[in-house]
Amino acid sequence: MDWLEKELEVLELASLERQLRVSAPVLDRPGYTVRGERVLLNLSSNDYLGLAQHPAIIEAMRNALLIEGAGAGASRHVTGNRPPYMHLEKALAEWQNCDAALVFANGYMANAGVISALVSRGDVVFSDQFNHASIVDGIAMSRAEHARYRHNDMEHLRTLLNKHRDKRRKLIVTDAVFSMDGDQAHLLELAALKKGYGAILMVDEAHSGGIYGMRGQGLGLELGLENDVDVHMGTFSKSFGVYGAYVCGSSMLIRWLVNKARPLMYSTALPPSLIAGISKALDLVQTEHWRRERLLTASGIFRSSLCKAGFKVGEGDSPIVPLIVGDNVTALRFSSALEMEGIAAVAIRPPTVSDGTARIRFSLSAAHTFEELTDAVGRIRSIGIQQGVLDS
Ligand SMILES: *Cc1c(COP(=O)(O)O)cnc(C)c1O
Repeated sequence: MDWLEKELEVLELASLERQLRVSAPVLDRPGYTVRGERVLLNLSSNDYLGLAQHPAIIEAMRNALLIEGAGAGASRHVTGNRPPYMHLEKALAEWQNCDAALVFANGYMANAGVISALVSRGDVVFSDQFNHASIVDGIAMSRAEHARYRHNDMEHLRTLLNKHRDKRRKLIVTDAVFSMDGDQAHLLELAALKKGYGAILMVDEAHSGGIYGMRGQGLGLELGLENDVDVHMGTFSKSFGVYGAYVCGSSMLIRWLVNKARPLMYSTALPPSLIAGISKALDLVQTEHWRRERLLTASGIFRSSLCKAGFKVGEGDSPIVPLIVGDNVTALRFSSALEMEGIAAVAIRPPTVSDGTARIRFSLSAAHTFEELTDAVGRIRSIGIQQGVLDS
């Protein structure tokens, strides 16, 4: 396996090698993380609502652990389908205003499972260029043709839909909020196109669930599209602060997935204690509105302070604020300098983003105070000047 050494060297020389680093939580300070000896303001977590350390979730998990034991012991089709699943899926369907819901082990497996269950050879999937890797991998797993349209370019999508008019099944799939750019998909236009071309519409609410919608249902429901979106997918690993994923839709869709989604069929059920924790998180997501409100206000303040400081940041109002610096080395240096100044904000490089668009991806949390954020912008600005990303 000599090639490994050579290939790793290629990665290293291009500043593209990734190494796993340890980040420890800071008890009772959900907006922070510890790296090495340093306590850092965590601007790189997806714990948008600050729920990851919520005592009520932890208590629900602990109680379920004592009743249900550590592991589920088998897949849901065998003997792993424990009572907490039934309770959670009923609550999820009600929350999403859908007939039925199905829990998956995580978002990656949900996307892979749903896409490969809905389309196969001879079909086509229309997918935004910036969609999450789990969608791309789901399409590959399905063996359907991958028709990739330029980011949020509805005219390009229309051209591709025309080109593939005669395909058997057509699936349009998009992130609702794009994970590395923080901008929104054009869901209203997508809903109109899907109707016009007789396609299925699937929306991944990984970065919008918990944040948009009256009860945090996501962008689709905020826009009143519950019946236009055929497949609502989201994760419990971001805003919910826990782990896992859901798919909501018609009873027929869920019945089909129970029979055809291989990541669900051929993998052990999540630990029941985790399912109980998700149920509690779902209660909190629906009722603690202040978390969403505070998060969106904080995102607005952070974005506009960065702009005022002279940075060009991505558009939108989401808690994902990308600061595109271009090359990999600059992104890595920027991130290290931020760490020295007490801020955890990782550099995002290809292949996660396109070549030449390496960036610092800031993500905010309801756990941050406005003061912490404006103070952070001051430090980010000084580093920007020192690194030559900003003019002084
Ligand atoms: C994080 C993410 C996923 C994967 O979810 P996990 O639960 O972390 O596996 C899927 N889609 C999008 C858009 C994501 O950002």
